[in-house]
Amino acid sequence: MHSAPTPKITPMLQQYLEMKAQYPDTVLFYRIGDFYEMFLDDAELGSRVMGIALTTRSRDNEAKVPMCGVPYHALSGYLAKMIRAGYRVALCEQVEDPKAAKGIVRREVVRVISPGVTTEDQLLDEKRECFLCALVLGPAKARNRLAGLAFLDVSTGRFLASEVDIAAGHDALLDVLVRMQPAELLQPQEQGEAESSLAEAIRARLAALCLTFRPAALFERACAQATLQEHFHTVNMAGFGCAQFTLALQAAGALLAYVQETQKTGLGHIDRLSPLQPGDFLIIDESSRRNLELTETIVGGRREGSLLDTLDMSATPMGARLFRNWLLFPLKTADAIKARLAAVEELAQRSKLRARLRELLSHITDMERLCSRLTLNQGNARDLNALGLSLARLPEFQSMLADASAPLLSEIFSAFDPLADVHGLIASAIRDDAPPALKEGGMIREGFDAELDRLMRLLRDGKKLILELEGKEREKSGLSKLKVGYNRVFGYYFELSRTQSGQVPDYFIRKQTLANVERYITPELKELEEAITNAQEKRLDLEFALFSRVRGQIASESRRLLAMSAHLATVDVLAALAEAAVRFRYCRPEINEGRSISIKEGRHPVIERNLEPGRFVPNDLHLDHEGSLLHIITGPNMAGKSTVLRQTALIVLMAHLGSFVPADSASICLVDRIFTRVGAMDNLRSGQSTFMVEMNETANILHNATENSLVILDEIGRGTSTYDGLAIAWAVAEELAGKNGLGIKTLFATHYHELVDLAATCPGVRNFSVAVREWNESIIFLHKLVEGGASRSYGIQVASLAGVPAPVIRRASAILKKIERHGQPGDAGSRADPAPRQMSLFPRQESQLDEFLRTLDPDAMTPREALDTLYRIRELV
Ligand code: ADP
Repeated sequence: MHSAPTPKITPMLQQYLEMKAQYPDTVLFYRIGDFYEMFLDDAELGSRVMGIALTTRSRDNEAKVPMCGVPYHALSGYLAKMIRAGYRVALCEQVEDPKAAKGIVRREVVRVISPGVTTEDQLLDEKRECFLCALVLGPAKARNRLAGLAFLDVSTGRFLASEVDIAAGHDALLDVLVRMQPAELLQPQEQGEAESSLAEAIRARLAALCLTFRPAALFERACAQATLQEHFHTVNMAGFGCAQFTLALQAAGALLAYVQETQKTGLGHIDRLSPLQPGDFLIIDESSRRNLELTETIVGGRREGSLLDTLDMSATPMGARLFRNWLLFPLKTADAIKARLAAVEELAQRSKLRARLRELLSHITDMERLCSRLTLNQGNARDLNALGLSLARLPEFQSMLADASAPLLSEIFSAFDPLADVHGLIASAIRDDAPPALKEGGMIREGFDAELDRLMRLLRDGKKLILELEGKEREKSGLSKLKVGYNRVFGYYFELSRTQSGQVPDYFIRKQTLANVERYITPELKELEEAITNAQEKRLDLEFALFSRVRGQIASESRRLLAMSAHLATVDVLAALAEAAVRFRYCRPEINEGRSISIKEGRHPVIERNLEPGRFVPNDLHLDHEGSLLHIITGPNMAGKSTVLRQTALIVLMAHLGSFVPADSASICLVDRIFTRVGAMDNLRSGQSTFMVEMNETANILHNATENSLVILDEIGRGTSTYDGLAIAWAVAEELAGKNGLGIKTLFATHYHELVDLAATCPGVRNFSVAVREWNESIIFLHKLVEGGASRSYGIQVASLAGVPAPVIRRASAILKKIERHGQPGDAGSRADPAPRQMSLFPRQESQLDEFLRTLDPDAMTPREALDTLYRIRELV
């Protein structure tokens, strides 16, 4: 790419090229003084990605070498740009003092930063985890083919292993990947090449994912096991509950090796590998998660407007991340759900306790990520102070929990570790006003280290000692005008006007002659000066050493810190759920042992918040296997069908994560999966036709739903011709109502009014509609779910409300009337009793009213006649 002639290889460029050869798939940030420089192709790439000037290095007449650079103090911003653009960066530092170096300064790559392995604040969203993932597939011919997965968030130390069955397809694997949303995926070299369909599916779902291929040997069993055992100091992984895994451990070992290689420091904060069993949690597949807008909106993919955004009132970053986890992995066992609900209830009822806990939490820093940074030898004195201030709140936090009765809270109280020793260490070692820089002093408190105190005294007294010397020399020589001064070139000196210069003692050495003054030094002055300068250098070195020791000591307590951070996060989420419950008037759901879902006055948690208080119309809903299994819900567009469907799914989901729910009361049974088939806007990006996507999802539901599932179907069959669509919708509804003998709890919104007839033949099917009131030629949406099917779709009225121009609306009404009178070509005979597709609104009254209105002459009426006329019109309406 760069232009000829070939650059002359200077020793520095030689060193650069050697480094670069060791890290071929990275952009090498090569430290020179106060800058990180990039050369050659990296320079061209870097200047483009980071938007910085491309220059050339052409000292000593060497041929032009393209280069660009960023100042070291602005590193994190530039790093963020490279990583976000999907590149890996190797940081190459000077590892010896340039002053002491003979020849070229020694340099080393100290860290490699990649999208999945980063602890930079600028790159991390504090409200969600950032996972690196490793994936190993079992042998292609194996009968029960599995995939092994490992996930690690380096910034928090959370390390998970999982295995999923891929014998029948990749869905379960993709589901886990999409839930975890890793930033980077490690795969063995050969695997990536062999499994192109899987790779494509992954890319389609996780567009921003950075793919990294690693030598296959690192994923082999023996090698991976050795890495894990060495790191965890265990002989096997049974102690972590991971004994059943093989492939997952291979992935975990390969992943750990990669992180060790890129971070080059201890990874003490990664203290366990936890099994992640997707089967332990309520399953909500990818499309349902998207449809229900759990963590982001369908349109625009924004967090605002999602259920997460609406519910998450956590006060700490650890809490926010845990909340997201609870939402993505709802529970499946009644006891665990009830335990959370009990804690939420207690915190909801005890508002003072809740307010105080939340206030304390709001002062607590991201202990989890901080702790990880410390173990990676990152973090400055300000970070330690932030940690110290957080720890200072712990004793009160603990005492607040002392009389909590909910088991989840009292367990945390019993396990509470106020970390007084760590707090004490920070308080005694680190100054409150410590600067962010590590090598400029000012970090360590007086009284922490005797040698530092001695140096500090010398420095503080230095000026006084110099002035004392000045006085002494004045007295000795009798030169009352003798004055001490300082400049950067000579350091300290004595100054005297030239007229007096003949009288200086003989041990004064002349250093400089200016217009009016002479400057001198003396051996004693220089000795004193040296002691002071040395003290400064020694002090800076000592402060850095002391700081590193303190940081190391705290890092060695990372297990305790992380355990406390997890407890705080749990209390934070429980208190946040309680806060939401009180603020938005949610109720505690009963978790019933049966198979029924009963919701009184249920609301949609997100939509109700966008409306003025009291404007959301609540609805009751009851599903069971004794006659109320499948609801066919009809009503015009915009009436609120989707809303009622989604709110039911959300209420059931919220109950499973241990949250109160937006309703007056609710009794919810445990469900194993929530399926949704909603809307037609999603999946456009995967390039399939809308109808195909809809049918794929319907097939998935029919194959996988059990009698313990909840199914939400909105407008299925819309993507094809009317009769095909109706036929499919009918057959699907029938199947769901009767499957397994028990059927599947289903809400089925449709614009095919013909489906209303299903209730007559199919037990368990009931008809509901969302009520509207007709008013003049328009309609008013009441948003109320009522028993019975709707007979009209009011499409034309809704079109008119949507602003379709009046002439088009009039023309549409005329066409509709004609169709209803004569039927459509091909329509006749296809049905015994064709139901109207859209009935015109009250035709009889309309014509009478029209006629009556035409006869009126308002100008000729008396007030009394006008009033009578008004009454007459009302009769006709
Ligand atoms: P449909 O699925 O029948 O076309 P939606 O459920 O999408 O209708 O509802 C359309 C709009 O009506 C929603 O965006 C919301 O603003 C409003 N809405 C729906 N249900 C209610 C309700 N129960 N209370 C108040 N407004 C509602």
